[in-house]
Amino acid sequence: METHDFDVIIIGGGHAGCEAAAASARMGAHTALVTHRLDTLGAMSCNPAIGGLGKGHLVREIDALDGIMGRIIDQAGIQFRMLNASKGPAVRGPRAQADRKLYKQAMQAELKATENLTLIEGAVEDVTLDDAGHLSAVVLADGRIIKTGRAVLTTGTFLRGIIHRGEERIPAGRVGEAPSIGLAETLERLDFPLGRLKTGTPARLNGQTIDWSRTEEQPGDTPPIPFSFLNTEITVPQIPCHITRTDETAHKIIQENIYRSAVYSGQIEGQGPRYCPSIEDKIVRFADKTSHQIFLEPEGLDVDTVYPNGISTSLPAEVQDAFIPTIPGLEQVEIEEYGYAIEYDFCDPRDLKRTMESPRLPGLYLAGQINGTTGYEEAAAQGLMAGLNAANAALHGDDAEALTLDRADAYIGVMIDDLITRGAPEPYRMFTSRAEYRLQLRADNADQRLTPLGLRWGCIGPRRQYVWAAKEQAIATARDLTNTRVTTPNALEKQGIHINKDGVKRTAFSLLGYKEITWDTLCRIWPELADIPAEISALIEADALYHGYMPRQESDIASYRKDAGLKLSKDLNYQDIGSLSNEVRTLLSQHKPESIGDAARLPGMTPAAVIALLRYIKQPQDRNAAA
Ligand code: FAD
Repeated sequence: METHDFDVIIIGGGHAGCEAAAASARMGAHTALVTHRLDTLGAMSCNPAIGGLGKGHLVREIDALDGIMGRIIDQAGIQFRMLNASKGPAVRGPRAQADRKLYKQAMQAELKATENLTLIEGAVEDVTLDDAGHLSAVVLADGRIIKTGRAVLTTGTFLRGIIHRGEERIPAGRVGEAPSIGLAETLERLDFPLGRLKTGTPARLNGQTIDWSRTEEQPGDTPPIPFSFLNTEITVPQIPCHITRTDETAHKIIQENIYRSAVYSGQIEGQGPRYCPSIEDKIVRFADKTSHQIFLEPEGLDVDTVYPNGISTSLPAEVQDAFIPTIPGLEQVEIEEYGYAIEYDFCDPRDLKRTMESPRLPGLYLAGQINGTTGYEEAAAQGLMAGLNAANAALHGDDAEALTLDRADAYIGVMIDDLITRGAPEPYRMFTSRAEYRLQLRADNADQRLTPLGLRWGCIGPRRQYVWAAKEQAIATARDLTNTRVTTPNALEKQGIHINKDGVKRTAFSLLGYKEITWDTLCRIWPELADIPAEISALIEADALYHGYMPRQESDIASYRKDAGLKLSKDLNYQDIGSLSNEVRTLLSQHKPESIGDAARLPGMTPAAVIALLRYIKQPQDRNAAA
């Protein structure tokens, strides 16, 4: 039996695991990633795409903290599109179609080249605890025991995974891969609160058998805009996607066979993602719709496989054979692999601390789909935070400052806050509408928000330090120029620009707040502004657009942080607070929230109860009870 010692062990090599391993190693912790198969590192279980609305923000934030997902997709993206491009910068979502093979190759090359990181093939079956109940090792199926004080568990859909296709039930973590049973039993033994969720995937099609002339072409952006703040261009060849739609013939076939869908036959108990429903869900829930859009997404540059985004299903193969050829362009299509649903165990994330550590087993952190989320980006963002915190605690001890983000820092903070306070009654995915402070949390300014914080935390490598220092300087120069160039309404009129003739002088920056005034307009007035790189001027334009609304948002953030940040002691006896109802006292005693903010977001907390709690802990005689 071989014995190793690592500061941090990452269990699982999916999107959460890869990001956690890179983050932990970047912090300087001696890290190992243990996963079933090293050749599946960076595998995309479902759609070959990264980003989208809300999810694109997460990728930019991961990148701003020097994570790897943004850099990997830049090496593998075959179609980049800015979603919501016609809307304001706050809700735009960068998205890229990926070449699966290139993505995996780039991820594997990145991890192999990462200093402080060892990659180990194996299945983790169990963990051991020391006398104090702290994690002390992970145990592999082949008997190897790897000693560690910190581990990040990122096993995705593998915990007691079962694939469903019609009446078929196949135990699996994803197609062709065995489920993880031993670890699920370990978590059960340790009293982790487990539940069941489900997700699904569509059939894969042979693109050579699609009649593309019957579909609508959807080109990408030109030029493609990279995800990573480190990159200025994309060199991977770009190709289009296509759009087609279902019609009533397909709907009728699905409707007639609905009782055979694993979900509707009652074979699946787990709740599925409301916002990413299967085709049978769409037909039942939106019965009045006569058509649903399908994006035909190529899976790579040199493969014919096409992913039909929009028709994920757990219907039997013969029903898929019947309805898919009714879709325009797919009349003669060859199905390479049938769609399926997968049901798996997840751990209720309300059980976690903000650092992603479990209070049930100190030293064990959980990240990714195991916490009830769905999506690569959500998984990677949690992996990043869990990896950083595990490494931080391993290197600096249990009392090290927790590395956390709040709802006003980042979408990552919004997601973690939602998970630990509200849980995941259904698979959780990110949307821009989940964030309260959207004007502040833009995808384009993620580095301005987070890279300085990352520098303080020690997770930013030398290349990004260099690139960020230059960009920070360029932003400062551009801000200075736009704030010191001043003109009057009369002078503007001579340039053909008409604004209210109130005699008030205006800076170039404030002029950008007018809809009809663009950066090009400013460059005509002040030619020196033309030297500012386009990437920086776009940022200044976005800042100017929202400038008028920012004082209100900043004051909202200040009051959120002031009260939300008030700590609640673990020893606080909620039974002593007379003005709370019995239900609220029980709720608070069960959850033991870390702060007023956490308490406020507990399902069942009323505004009146929050005020009563605030009043109680702000009373001088009771302050001792609060931390
Ligand atoms: P995974 O990517 O699942 O990775 C888990 C890793 O852990 C794997 O490498 C596995 O080998 C390893 N592992 C598991 N158990 C052990 C063990 N005991 N020891 C060692 N290694 C272990 N997302 C969407 O956004 N939209 C969708 O429509 C969608 N549909 C999906 C459909 C299917 C069928 C599946 C499987 C997933 C789907 N997803 C979808 C989800 C997306 O794939 C996941 O959210 C994402 O991959 C989760 O990342 P993760 O790192 O948490 O887990």
